[in-house]
Amino acid sequence: MSDTAPLIDPFARAITYLRVSVTDRCDLRCVYCMSEDMSFLPKAEILSLEELDRLASAFVRLGVRKLRLTGGEPLLRKNVERLIAMLAELRTPDGAPLDLTLTTNGSLLLRKAQALKDAGLQRVTVSLDALDDGIFRRMNDVDFPVAEVLDGIAQAQRVGLGPIKVNMVVKRGTNDHEIVPMARFFRENFGGGIVLRFIEYMDVGATNGWRMDEVLPSAQVVERISAEFPLEPLEAQLPGETAQRWRYRDGGGEVGVISSVTQAFCHDCNRARLSTEGKLFLCLFAHQGHDLRALLRGDFDDAQISAAIGEIWTGRDDRYSELRSALQADTGSGQRRVEMHYIGG
Ligand code: SAM
Repeated sequence: MSDTAPLIDPFARAITYLRVSVTDRCDLRCVYCMSEDMSFLPKAEILSLEELDRLASAFVRLGVRKLRLTGGEPLLRKNVERLIAMLAELRTPDGAPLDLTLTTNGSLLLRKAQALKDAGLQRVTVSLDALDDGIFRRMNDVDFPVAEVLDGIAQAQRVGLGPIKVNMVVKRGTNDHEIVPMARFFRENFGGGIVLRFIEYMDVGATNGWRMDEVLPSAQVVERISAEFPLEPLEAQLPGETAQRWRYRDGGGEVGVISSVTQAFCHDCNRARLSTEGKLFLCLFAHQGHDLRALLRGDFDDAQISAAIGEIWTGRDDRYSELRSALQADTGSGQRRVEMHYIGG
């Protein structure tokens, strides 16, 4: 296979986006994501910065245009700035820089935003599930104060890590009454420059005790915001975009909703996920990944690694979310789905 041919799977999906989990550790224990009782990978099993860079280059040669660092909490990874500096040097086959971004819980953003920007990071997405300090502390389960995340967001904006997105996972009965206050806050502060996105609580992993009745469908999120601040739909900007975009009719900016549960978007999935120890996952809901670390640490050259990734992508036939109800009945197979803190959302 040519090193630069666009990769297309049997459903005509091209690979353009790679999410890289740089650590499986996190300083928060968000109730919908991690349980208290976690075990983490030993250091020797984790890809080094050089290995991450080498794999990222292989994906870029195969068509990836956007790289997102995630985790765990990516800002806990030692020398993450050095990794960013390496990735910022990568160019697509036609010479363009990548869209290089990172998803963070914001706990270290105040301290690290400037260094991330200096290293070449373009923008950040910050996860924030409530403005109310009590609710936020309960949801992160380690009593972390919301003010520190807000300070981190303000600092990221000051140093130019934008456009910033803020992601709120909505869990019915836990934080759904924070939807309108969050919308109001981000309309009224930050000059409309931050896009708030509401994510449906997903049935990832096996430890969060997910229940369908705790999912608030995105359609209801839009209704609730619209009742206060009327919204109108916007066209998608890019194929494979997971968020449906809505604009405030009064010009106060936009919000997005990510309806992974009620409106699956497998049909134009353009993304691959790399776990902390180098396994390639083609779906957030996959049971197993493909071991790329064995190739990196074996006697394989770059062309062979690209060819192996190409074969994996062109053979992919997953569309979990579209088949969700049928597959949920199949939990007796003994196979456990990967956890979100391991694969990075
Ligand atoms: N620590 C970073 C952060 O908090 O953004 C990156 C990793 S975190 C696993 C990535 C995203 O996944 C976060 O926005 C988090 O809220 C989201 N997430 C985790 N579990 C989820 C679930 N069950 N449903 C929907 N989103 C989830």
